[in-house]
Amino acid sequence: MKHRELIGKLTLEEKASLMSGKNFWMTQDMGEHGIPSIFLADGPHGIRKQASAADHLGLNPSLKATCFPTSATMANSWNDGLGEEMGRALGLEAVVQRVNVLLGPGLNIKRSPLCGRNFEYFSEDPYLAGKMAASYIRGIQSNGVSACGKHFAANNQEERRMVIDTVVDERTYREIYLTGFELAVKEGGLKTIMSAYNKINGEFANENKHLLKDILRDEWGYEGVVVTDWGGNNDRVEGLKCGNELEMPTTSGETNREIVEAVRSGKLAESVLDECVDRLLTLIFETDKTLKSGADNFDDKAHHNLAQKCAEESIVLLKNEANVLPLDKSKKAAVIGDFAENPRYQGAGSSIVNPSKLDSALSCMKESGINYIGYEPGFKRYGKKSGGLIKKACKLAQKADIVLLYLGLDEVTEAEGLDRPDMKLPENQLALLDALKKTGKKIVVVLSCGAAVETGWADKAHAVVHAYLSGQAGASAVLNVLTGKVNPSGKLAESYPYKYGDTPSASNFPGHEESVEYREGPYIGYRYYGTAGVKVRYPFGFGLSYTTFAYSGIAVNESGVTFKIKNTGKAAGAEAAQMYVSMKGGKVFRPAKELKGFKKVFLQPGEEKEVTIPFNEYTFRYFDVKTNKWETEGGTYTIMAGSSSEDIRLTAETAREGTVTSSPYNKAELPSYYSGKAANVPLEEFEKLLGHKAPDPHFKFYKKKRMVIGYNSTVAQLRYSKRWVGRFFAGAIRFAIRFLRGIGKRMLSNVLIMGVYHQPMRGLSRMTGGMISWGQLDGMIMMFNGKFFKGLGKFLKEGKKKKRLRKAAAAAQAQKAQAAAK
Ligand code: BGC
Repeated sequence: MKHRELIGKLTLEEKASLMSGKNFWMTQDMGEHGIPSIFLADGPHGIRKQASAADHLGLNPSLKATCFPTSATMANSWNDGLGEEMGRALGLEAVVQRVNVLLGPGLNIKRSPLCGRNFEYFSEDPYLAGKMAASYIRGIQSNGVSACGKHFAANNQEERRMVIDTVVDERTYREIYLTGFELAVKEGGLKTIMSAYNKINGEFANENKHLLKDILRDEWGYEGVVVTDWGGNNDRVEGLKCGNELEMPTTSGETNREIVEAVRSGKLAESVLDECVDRLLTLIFETDKTLKSGADNFDDKAHHNLAQKCAEESIVLLKNEANVLPLDKSKKAAVIGDFAENPRYQGAGSSIVNPSKLDSALSCMKESGINYIGYEPGFKRYGKKSGGLIKKACKLAQKADIVLLYLGLDEVTEAEGLDRPDMKLPENQLALLDALKKTGKKIVVVLSCGAAVETGWADKAHAVVHAYLSGQAGASAVLNVLTGKVNPSGKLAESYPYKYGDTPSASNFPGHEESVEYREGPYIGYRYYGTAGVKVRYPFGFGLSYTTFAYSGIAVNESGVTFKIKNTGKAAGAEAAQMYVSMKGGKVFRPAKELKGFKKVFLQPGEEKEVTIPFNEYTFRYFDVKTNKWETEGGTYTIMAGSSSEDIRLTAETAREGTVTSSPYNKAELPSYYSGKAANVPLEEFEKLLGHKAPDPHFKFYKKKRMVIGYNSTVAQLRYSKRWVGRFFAGAIRFAIRFLRGIGKRMLSNVLIMGVYHQPMRGLSRMTGGMISWGQLDGMIMMFNGKFFKGLGKFLKEGKKKKRLRKAAAAAQAQKAQAAAK
């Protein structure tokens, strides 16, 4: 232990009190022992430091900060060097705002395009996600503050996010859902990790020994701190035993008392608490030292420019018929679509940043040099189809040679706390495109959204520029791409299927009531499409350029692959070259190809460069469920160099010696996994893969539509409670959600869904800063379960007890302060 001496001076109560926040964002301080408190703040693409009213829903404003492109956008850059540069800027802003721990990056895998938080995550591929996350982390932490990788792990949906049980087989878990975190820990040197809200195979992430101890600490050698997601603590003592140092936000001392009691009763060894305190103190002292002497300002103009550069490298050109782009500046351009005026540049929820400056297409149009003849919104951002707006837009289009049409998803559709209902763009926008198409003018669609959407409509456009959610300078970046000042080099970090039904998890997302079964196993995104032979609209790794690249001269040796790339066109440009690996005829089933390396190369016209992508510990490994280790299957591997997952330019072979001789699987039992056609795996086959029975996914009713309410029943489940109180409460919330939606207050309606409707009972205590004590919660649960008066009595009695305890704690605090003053 690094802080043995100091820990020896702390009382049991003091040590326990360090284990949870003193308020919503800060940890406990102890001036008398020289322990300062530290500040934790969101989030992944900019600092959200709330100076006054605090919340985790993105409701109250935060201090101004640079809003960089979201992770879904940055992943398209395939440039981890740029990720590190952005991380450095984020870390510097954290220092300036005196934030010790920046709550990002988020690196969960995009299992389904519908996950409401996909905009905050990098990719459907763990290697790309992990490499990008590691680069952010190195950058942020180079400033002496801590990044915080989240949400660990298998948190791939928002539906019932605080209680859902992710049922996943061990190999898929390791290869798909944990590899990115492994890279973040090992290559990023992560100092803080946030445990996810959900359960994994029956245990909450925060008290999951297999995840937090066996894998994170023992296998990966992680020495940092584990913090709960806000309100994510289920059983404090179990969490602590698994090495969860910090619970956030505050519970006003309630869970600290649980820790003290557990040590006194022998349920928890004091040495376990001491180790947790020790690791937390390291984080506190290290980051506090930085902040004491850290910078007081940063160059906000330079950071805005960096945000623009990040966006420029991440924009993906999806279509460019007859080279309509770059724009011919002599041609008259009509700008249509609400997003041109009110840019969609970031997501909604806890990651929301208050931007230091905000570019819009309209505000930057003059500077761009585009021959701009006017603007029409064309549709209501949140509304139904408007014939009037469409008419005006078409009238303007008639006067132009080309239409720049800004479409996308609004911030209420893509938000933390709820998944999208479908993959479509709003009807009113598609109707506008249809009408504009009839004008016969050339149409360039600029798309803004943070996740894959169906793009059948792209047939009606001559060009499609996907800006994703490109941050505060995104609008200028797009204009630079449109005019050719910047040659687009972004490539998709996720697949774009033709329709939602094509996605491998569609029949098992978001799961049933209690659990979600990852029946598709490792066949996520391109791993599925490429193996099962399902055609997609735009493949993983795809993106066009204003120039062309030729690949040649592949050679493989023990340590990696080398090949050449030449810019064969007339414009300078960059190519994100991708290395995929496969093995044919192996005994272990595996996807047709898997990304194992990438490199972005910048080339002048006619220039050629040699590219080397080294092999590493991730290149040939698979997780063997029999030996319970990473193994290599012996045989011949195909190494592919590609411009996208479906545009493989060069292949070579290399032989590897195996570390095992037999396969852990019985091929006859797993036909879907061996064929890769894993979209509709029957339960029995999935259970063979799991190695055990899957838990019953349904709610447990004791009679028709009636259930016993417990700590982990959500407010939504109160509709099945025994007494009218609970049913009335759930009904009122449901009504409010629908009502708010009906009157157009969709954001508020979302907040109710996220903050209340899907909140488990325990959250009513843990998320209210102790306003409702655990004892009071017990009283409420009694009421919901039919013991109304007994429950009410308990609620009132516990309320008095809470007041007494608070008074005593305040008096003790005052006494301590007095003693310290003497
Ligand atoms: C989110 C986290 C976030 C935290 C604090 C939670 O609801 O899941 O990503 O960091 O709130 O705002």
